Amino acid sequence: MTDICVPIVAENVEKVKSDIKEAEKHADLIEIRLDFIKDMTKEKIKELLNGNNKKIIITCRNKKDRGNFDGAEEEKLELLNASIESGCDYIDIENDSKLLNQIIENKKTKTIVSYHNFDETPSLEALNQKYNEIKSKKPDSIKIVTQANSINDNFIIFELLKGKDDLTAFCMGIKGQMSRILAPKYNSLLTFASLEDGKESASGQISIKEMKDLYHVPLLDKDTNVLGVIGKHAENSQSKNMHNPVFVNKKLNYVYIPFKMDKEEVNEFMKNFRKSNFAGSSVTIPHKEYIMDFLDGIDETAKAIGAVNTIVNEQGRLTGYNTDYYGAVSALKEKTSLSGKKILIIGAGGAARALVYGFKKENSEITVINRTKEKAQKLADEFEIKSDELSNAKNLINANDIIINTTSIGMHPNAGESIIKEDEFVSGKLVMDIVYNPLKTKFVENAQKAGCEVIMGDKMLIYQAAGQFELWTKNRPEFEEMQNALQRAIRGDL
Ligand code: NAP
Repeated sequence: MTDICVPIVAENVEKVKSDIKEAEKHADLIEIRLDFIKDMTKEKIKELLNGNNKKIIITCRNKKDRGNFDGAEEEKLELLNASIESGCDYIDIENDSKLLNQIIENKKTKTIVSYHNFDETPSLEALNQKYNEIKSKKPDSIKIVTQANSINDNFIIFELLKGKDDLTAFCMGIKGQMSRILAPKYNSLLTFASLEDGKESASGQISIKEMKDLYHVPLLDKDTNVLGVIGKHAENSQSKNMHNPVFVNKKLNYVYIPFKMDKEEVNEFMKNFRKSNFAGSSVTIPHKEYIMDFLDGIDETAKAIGAVNTIVNEQGRLTGYNTDYYGAVSALKEKTSLSGKKILIIGAGGAARALVYGFKKENSEITVINRTKEKAQKLADEFEIKSDELSNAKNLINANDIIINTTSIGMHPNAGESIIKEDEFVSGKLVMDIVYNPLKTKFVENAQKAGCEVIMGDKMLIYQAAGQFELWTKNRPEFEEMQNALQRAIRGDL
């Protein structure tokens, strides 16, 4: 059973007290960081430790250990002794502290002895040695926290946690977030969450609201099925906001997390993925094609599209699928039939390929245009469709029934841009943008002003996510269920 601890990093006693009151509503236990509080005294400690209703860890980290305390060790000992006398539940102290023995020997308060490495995650062997060294000093529990420079560092920590019932361990940094979320699966005693964004005590700390409301950490256990999204900027993906609430609603023991990684990390990650028996994954930019080298099978659709956006682990066999085409086709089919319709696709990247594949299956007449003409031509040759010039967009819009933007133009942070101007649109056309961040793009805005019917990028996103959900869990989520979850996240209600 993993407890979620919220560190309090306020600078004065009044703020610490009000943050403790707030943290008590959400946390299992609370860490007071004495080193963040200005002009700390024994009297103030007494005041802070009076009348709390959650267990309290007291920590006073030195500057050299990336804390804020720069007083003498005698002064620190006085503060820690005052905390013990005032009834704190735990003292957290660094493994190499000169005060270690005095703190461990106190009989009133439990001791957590910590080792932090802010530069890297050492090897499993080195970390086990560190664990044994600390254990020999007989603390009540041990905390080992390292910096994740690669997503694969998390798996060293998961191995380290195996068979130990007195260890808190996780990785810092954005690439270490999965070890904070999966702490209950791998039996870490504690995981740490900030009271709110901006109140983190270490890098990569996720807010308690996100840990509980989004990743439902209190519901996770050793049997939880792990899913996620493999991507260079996976942390920006909206998919976690769509899948996680539906797992909870449907009482499915799954969690969906970002797997943020660069290309060099993919090979090792896929080995760890198999070893850890993760249930599956989404795949996003820029790994949709490269990932295919690491799978055991690719379904016919993904093969024809040449990209995988979904991995399913079926009894150890990893199969790649592509649900992007299904997402786009379903989004349009809400408004119209596609057979015989003339469709203009702007863009010739990965998403465009999936759409071309999908609309071909629906017997639509497709024309593709793109900034790099050769790429449009290549796509057209491969799928036996037409290609044309981007500069001819206005005439082509006139000649087609459905116009779709698949370029990344207009995507955050370039929200003011559109590949098609308002006066190039022709009223009465059905227009879809697959860019979903922002929800209402400039492209959509221009089309609406010109009198077109519009479909925004969230429709495709939700349908492709629903397709993935079904592949992973064999359960079909309601469209509205996912849409509501996504809209709550976009509004910031999560
Ligand atoms: P991609 O493979 O990198 O393709 C990008 C496309 O955008 C190419 O056609 C590229 O043209 C064009 N482009 C980029 N910058 C441009 C510029 N400044 N001027 C003109 N054209 C430009 O990316 P992708 O995977 O296809 O994704 C494209 C967009 O679709 C992204 O915004 C992504 O988030 C979105 N998407 C949405 C969903 C959904 O479910 N709603 C699903 C998948 C993707 P060149 O060939 O000339 O470089």
